[in-house]
Amino acid sequence: MFRPGQKVGFTMMANEAKKIWMDGRLVDAGQAHVHVLSHTFHYGVGVFEGIRCYETPGGPAIFRLEDHVRRLLLSARLYKMPLPYSAEEVARAIDETQAANEIVPSYIRPIVYRGEPALGVKNLKGKVSLAVAAIPAKKYLGPSSETGVRAKISPFRKPQSDAQPSFAKSCGNYVNGYLAGVDAELDGYEEAILLDQNGYIAEGTGENIFLVRDGTVYTPGLESDILLGITRSSVITIAEDLGFKVVQKLLSMNELLSADELFFSGTFAEIAPVREVSHYTIGDGKVGPITREVMQVFYRTIAGKEPKYAAWLHPVPPLSSFGTSHRGAAPKGTA
Ligand code: PMP
Repeated sequence: MFRPGQKVGFTMMANEAKKIWMDGRLVDAGQAHVHVLSHTFHYGVGVFEGIRCYETPGGPAIFRLEDHVRRLLLSARLYKMPLPYSAEEVARAIDETQAANEIVPSYIRPIVYRGEPALGVKNLKGKVSLAVAAIPAKKYLGPSSETGVRAKISPFRKPQSDAQPSFAKSCGNYVNGYLAGVDAELDGYEEAILLDQNGYIAEGTGENIFLVRDGTVYTPGLESDILLGITRSSVITIAEDLGFKVVQKLLSMNELLSADELFFSGTFAEIAPVREVSHYTIGDGKVGPITREVMQVFYRTIAGKEPKYAAWLHPVPPLSSFGTSHRGAAPKGTA
């Protein structure tokens, strides 16, 4: 039985970061401070990414780095947080942080924030900063990845995107995810499934959701209030390449509870089968055959063993290739 507070499927140790990249400098993690009166801390106006770096036969490789950088810049744009770095500079900061921390597999967390003391909700002029951390992240190998997770339909619904745009991965969006996740955990479930304001299926607190019915794969589409997950897009490609039809549409509770197979996708959870939803067994309660097929290709891909998707893996350059920048020079564009 799942116990509240128990880690589900993945383990991350935020206190094991060694060096954190802050506006062009790699600083010791213990010195990576932000002012307690910072705007982002008080109002949740910040945007971030969650990225994984994997061990592959060719060395450490970051999964779909360019797509994560593109989404970070989109999130920053939607929140009117003009980042003083180009996409290439952000990618380089991520590479440098990964190289400096020498942790593989890792979870990389770039965050765009206003870190100067500033109270008052409107804050267009505050300096926009970037920090990047890399921490150890074990592969998703918990018992739930074998047997499937138990998820609860959350009483907390997703805010509509005319309240908070869901395509932006903003700090504030996770207040809703927190409430849903804690409610599920206190009820003995491993994850929550959030509905949108109209009662359609949206996503998990940190995952997109897929269901399989009569051999077809379904997932909520762009009209849903979801984050457009990068793992989601990988799953769609893999499933289609395997010959399955993938349909993106509004999904009802009927379709969820009567699905033959169900699984989550996300950078944290990778691909996680779901065996039970709010006391309803999904299919026969076991990992379904289509889920298993997609998982096998995905896990081979991130291990660098699937030539077809080799372009999704970005090799991390050695720290020496960053010259002196890791000793503290600020990149182009910083004040
Ligand atoms: N939805 C939400 C709310 C998330 O936080 C995440 C994790 N970033 C996802 C979906 C999955 O997105 P990705 O596959 O890009 O990690």
